[in-house]
Amino acid sequence: MSEMRKMTWDELAHENTTQKIEIGNLKYWVNDLHLGMYINCVYCGHRYGPDKDVPASMADVLKKHIEKCPKHPLYEANQEIEQLKKEKEWLLNYCLFLEYHPFPIVRNEEVEINILHQMQQSLKDQ
Ligand SMILES: [Zn+2]
Repeated sequence: MSEMRKMTWDELAHENTTQKIEIGNLKYWVNDLHLGMYINCVYCGHRYGPDKDVPASMADVLKKHIEKCPKHPLYEANQEIEQLKKEKEWLLNYCLFLEYHPFPIVRNEEVEINILHQMQQSLKDQ
């Protein structure tokens, strides 16, 4: 039996609280270490410095920058996720159209492939 299974709910709750306090203390420590220092984005080199009036911690400022930095892989991943969401919506709409279209549609593989290519092209144009 593992160590985790021997713990009661109260013990787990106490351990969870203790760890949350430790994480909070470590965040304060990191913020103190960043205080008065320059922080750079390693992908584009954008610099935030102590001379700027920054209301949040430097780590939070850098996190916000990373979300919008065009050279950071996370930005590219977010762009791809948005594109895939659009494509999924188009495909779901296309499936609904095929399923509920009131007129009989002559199923033609070549025509359907052409429609899918047109949809793909219009997604690229967006
Ligand atoms: Zn950057």
